[in-house]
Amino acid sequence: MLSASEVRSSFIKFFDGKGHAFVPSSPVIPVGDDTLLFANAGMNQFKDVFLGTGTRDYKRAANSQKCIRAGGKHNDLEDVGIDTYHHTFFEMLGNWSLGDYFKAESIEWAWELLTKVWGIDESKLYATVFAGDKKDGLKPDAEAAELWTKVTSIPKERVLSFGKKDNFWEMGNTGPCGPCSEIHIDLGQERCDKKHDPDHKCEVNAGCARYIELWNLVFIQYNRLPDGKIVPLPAKHVDTGMGLERVVSVLQNKESNYDTDLFTPIINAIEKMCGKKYTAKLEDETDVAFRVIADHLRTLTFAITDGGMPGNEGRGYVLRRILRRAVRFGRVLGMQAPFMHKLVAPVIDCMGNAFDELNDRAELVRTVMKSEEESFGRTLDRGLEIFKSAATAAEKDGTKTISGKNAFELYDTYGFPLDLTELMARERSLKVDVDIFDELMAAQRQRARAAQKSDSLAAFVTDTALPQTEDSHKYKNHSCLTKVIGWIDSKGFQKDGTITEQNDDAAVVLQETCFYAESGGQVGDCGRIEGPAGRFIVETTEKIADCVIHRGKMESGTLSTNEQVKAVVDNNRQACMKNHTATHLLQWALQKVMGDTVKQQGSLVCPEYLRFDFTSPAAMTAEQISEVEKLINEKIDEAIEVNSIVMPIDKAKQLGAMALFGEKYGEFVRIVSVGGNQEASLEEAFSKEFCGGTHVDNTASIGAFKIIKEESVSAGIRRITALTAGGLIDYLTKRNDTVDQLCDLLKTPAEQIFERVSKLIEDNKKLTKQIKSGISQGGGGCMGKAKELLEKAEKIGDASIVVSKIDGGIEQVRQAIDMIKKKASSAAVVFASVSDGKVMLLVGVTDDLIKKGLKAGDIVKEIAPVVGGGGGGRPQMAQAGGKNPEKTDDALAKAKEFIAAKLG
Ligand SMILES: [Zn+2]
Ligand SMILES: [Zn+2]
Repeated sequence: MLSASEVRSSFIKFFDGKGHAFVPSSPVIPVGDDTLLFANAGMNQFKDVFLGTGTRDYKRAANSQKCIRAGGKHNDLEDVGIDTYHHTFFEMLGNWSLGDYFKAESIEWAWELLTKVWGIDESKLYATVFAGDKKDGLKPDAEAAELWTKVTSIPKERVLSFGKKDNFWEMGNTGPCGPCSEIHIDLGQERCDKKHDPDHKCEVNAGCARYIELWNLVFIQYNRLPDGKIVPLPAKHVDTGMGLERVVSVLQNKESNYDTDLFTPIINAIEKMCGKKYTAKLEDETDVAFRVIADHLRTLTFAITDGGMPGNEGRGYVLRRILRRAVRFGRVLGMQAPFMHKLVAPVIDCMGNAFDELNDRAELVRTVMKSEEESFGRTLDRGLEIFKSAATAAEKDGTKTISGKNAFELYDTYGFPLDLTELMARERSLKVDVDIFDELMAAQRQRARAAQKSDSLAAFVTDTALPQTEDSHKYKNHSCLTKVIGWIDSKGFQKDGTITEQNDDAAVVLQETCFYAESGGQVGDCGRIEGPAGRFIVETTEKIADCVIHRGKMESGTLSTNEQVKAVVDNNRQACMKNHTATHLLQWALQKVMGDTVKQQGSLVCPEYLRFDFTSPAAMTAEQISEVEKLINEKIDEAIEVNSIVMPIDKAKQLGAMALFGEKYGEFVRIVSVGGNQEASLEEAFSKEFCGGTHVDNTASIGAFKIIKEESVSAGIRRITALTAGGLIDYLTKRNDTVDQLCDLLKTPAEQIFERVSKLIEDNKKLTKQIKSGISQGGGGCMGKAKELLEKAEKIGDASIVVSKIDGGIEQVRQAIDMIKKKASSAAVVFASVSDGKVMLLVGVTDDLIKKGLKAGDIVKEIAPVVGGGGGGRPQMAQAGGKNPEKTDDALAKAKEFIAAKLG
C-alpha cells in the first residue's frame, strides 16, 4: 500500500517523466492577490498565464498545491468534522500545460497514472465530458469524448456527458474558460448514503458517496468577453486538479480521509494527549471533536507558516474562528489548558518532508497558537455558562431558540463566532435567532463606522462626487503652482466661495498638488497654501477616493475658489522620505539576518522616526540588531540609487517584489527598488516593494540608521523603532547631554562613566546588604550579646559594670543599653561598635549611680579622645564617635578605670 507521501511523490515523479517542471506550491496566504482569501486551487499561481499577462520559462508544470477553503463563498467550516470528507486544508495535485499539450495527452496520462502506476481497477472508473450549452452557443466536447475511447481502454458506455454545472469551468464573469473532463470512481453499492431517499438514482454526479470525483481535467480554450460572448483563445492550456486526501483514501482503501496516514499520526497524538480513543464513528461527538481538531491543526499550521495571523477581520478572523472552534471541541475531549500548540509537532512530522517551510517556522506557529488559545480560554468558560443558561431557558419556554441578543453577546463579549453558537445550539436541538443577531451586528458596524469617521471629513462627503486630484508632483516637487477648486467642511463639498479664519474645519481641494496624502504607513504631508489674499496652514493631508484634501486652518486672510495659489510642503517631508527608504532597507536586512519568517505586519513612517512590525517567534538578540544596523549603514555608505517604476501587477510579482498582506492593489503597481535601475535589471535590485510612498533618490541621503527599540507587540509579532539622519542626530544630542551631566555629577570622564556607575551600583548593593544584615543579625545579635555580657558582668557593690565591644547600629546598641539598665536596675554600660574604619562609643548609667557621681557624659568625655574623637551627652546616656578604631581597647580600658575610680 502506498503511503500518502508516496502518492504525492509518485504523482510528481510521473509528470516529471513527462517533461513537467516541479513548481513548488504557492503560499496558502496569497501574496498581492486580494481577490482571494486563501489559495484554493493549484491554478492560482498560473492565473496570469491563462489571462495572457504573464509568461513562464517552462510550458509544463506539476505540484501539490496547499489549499484552504473556509470563509468566503464556499464556507465549509461548519461541515468539517461532522462528515468525513470536508476539510479546511487540503492538497491539490495538479499538472498544467501552459500553451503546450492539450486534451489527448492529459487524458492519456491521467488514465495511465490511475490504472497503470497506481493500479486502480479500470472497471470502476467513469469519465465525463461536456454536453454543450445552447444558451451560450457552446458545442459538446466531442473531441474529448472521442479521445477517451481512443487513447484509453475505457468502454464508450462509461464516458458520460454532463452540462455546464458539472463540466464547464470559468475563471470569473469574464476571461478564460473551457470544458472539463472528470474521472469518477464507483466505490461500490454499499457506500451509497442515499439508499433511503426514494428519489435518489444511484449514478455518477448524483451526489451520493458511492460515486466520487477523483480528477478534474480543465481544457482552457475559450475567452468570455465583457459582452458575454465566448471566443476561442489563441493559446490553449490544461489545468488539472486531484484532491490528495481523497485519492489517498481510495488507494489505501479507507472509507474516510481521516483514516489515511495523512491524519492518523495527528489523531494518535490527540488520543495520547486526552486519553480518549478515536472510533471513527460518524455521529459520535468525541469522534467529531477528533476530526475537527486534526483538520484545524493542519489549516492553522500551514496558514501561520505562510504569514497568516489570527485577527479581527478578513482572513485573520477566519483563522481566529478556526482556532476557537478547535479549542471549543477540545473541551469535548476534556482538554482545558491550551493544547493546540502542543500538537503542531505531529503535523510537521507528517508534512514537513513535502513542505520544508513548516520546519523553519514551527516555533512561530506554536507561539501564535498558544497566545490565541490563552486569550480565548479566558473568555470561553464564562461564555459556555452563558450559553448553557440561554439554552436551558430556550428549552423551558418552548421557543427552542437561542435569542439573537444572547448570540450577539456571546459574539461581542466572549468571542463566540455565530457558527460556533449555532453548532452548540444544534447539538441541543435548538436554533439561533439569526435575524436579530444580524440586526445587532449591523447596528454595531454602523456604530463602529461612525466612531471611526467622526474625526474624518470623509463622513460628510460620501454622497458627494469629489473631483480627482492630479498628485504626481509629490514624487518630484515640494512646491507647485495650482488653483483652489473648492473645499470640504461639515456641510460637504463647496465649489464656490471663500474660506476665512472662521472656517476652522475646512479642507482645501486643489487642482493639482505636491502634498503626499497619508497612505501605506507614511503620514500625510504638512505645509502651507499661499494665495493672493491669505495663507492656509496644512496640518495633514488625506485622500478620499481620488481626491486629495488638505486639512488645517487659515493663518491669515482668505482663500477663494479659482484663485491661483502656491502649495508648499514642509521640510519635514525630507525626513519622511529618508525614513521611508530606510524602512525598505530594514525589511530587506531583517530577512537577511533573521530569514524569511520575517513578514511585514505594518509600518509607520513619519518625519521623526520609523516603526516596523514583523513576524518573528522570538525577540531579536543584540547581535542580530547590530547586524541589521550594520547591513543598512553599509548600503547607505554605498550610495545606491533608489528607483520607482509602474508596471502590471503580475510582472511585479514575477520579479519577486514584496507586497503587503491585506493591501489592495490595482492592475498596475508602483515598485520602489534599491539597486538595479531599469526594469530590465530590476531583478538585481536587492530591495523591491510594492509602494506608493515618497523616497530619497539615493541611499546616501539617509545619512545613518539606528534601531533604538525592539519590543513585542503581540504573540509572534515584534516592533522596531528606528531613526535616521536628523532624527538620529537629535536623539544622539540628547543622549550626549545626559552623559555630559553624568560626567559633571560624578567628576568622571565619559570613557570611564560606565565603570564608575557600575562601581557605585556594586557599592550600593554591598552597603544595602550590610545594613540589612546589621538589622537582622546585628540587631538580634546585639541584644543577645548584651544579655550575655550582663550575666557575666563585673560587680561593684550592687552595680553591674558592662564594658565591651559590640556589633550593631546605633539604634540597636542604644536599645541594648536600655535593656541592661532596666534588667540590672543598677548599671554602668560602655559599648564600642566598630564599622567602616570608625568607632562609635555609647554609654549609659542608671540613676542610682548618677547620684553617686558617675555620669555618662563624663565617661564619654574621658574616653573619646583616646579614639581620636569627642562628644558628650546627658548623665543617663551619652555617645561619641572616633576615627581611630585600633585604639578602641585602650578607650574601654580607660572607661573601666574611670568607673572603678568613681564608684570604688
Ligand atoms: Zn447512491
Ligand atoms: Zn514603502
